Amino acid sequence: MSVDLVEIDVAGVPILVVLPTIPEDGPERLREGIARRRLVMINGRCPCGAERTLPNRAQRRAMRRDVARGSAVWQVTVGHEVDCPANDHLVLAALKEWRR
Ligand SMILES: [Zn+2]
Repeated sequence: MSVDLVEIDVAGVPILVVLPTIPEDGPERLREGIARRRLVMINGRCPCGAERTLPNRAQRRAMRRDVARGSAVWQVTVGHEVDCPANDHLVLAALKEWRR
C-alpha cells in the first residue's frame, strides 16, 4: 500500500500528514473506508459525523515548538460510528480480506 504526504492547517499550524492512497484494486468497502479517513484528516469531518480532534492549547504550543525544531508528531483519534466504513474494525476486516 502506498501513501501520500498532504499538508493541512491545524489551528494555524501547517502539518504534513501521511495518508494511505486508495488502492485501485481494493474492495469497495476498503476504498470507501480509506476515502473517509482521508476526508477526516483533510477536511476535519467524516460523512458519519466523526470529527478530527483539534489539539488543545498546550498541544498546539508544543507542536509549534517542535515544528520550529524541524518536526512534530500529532496523533489523532477519530470516533467513527460503529457502522462507518472508516471504523477501525471494518477497515481492518476489509484489508485482511483483500490481502488473503
Ligand atoms: Zn466515519
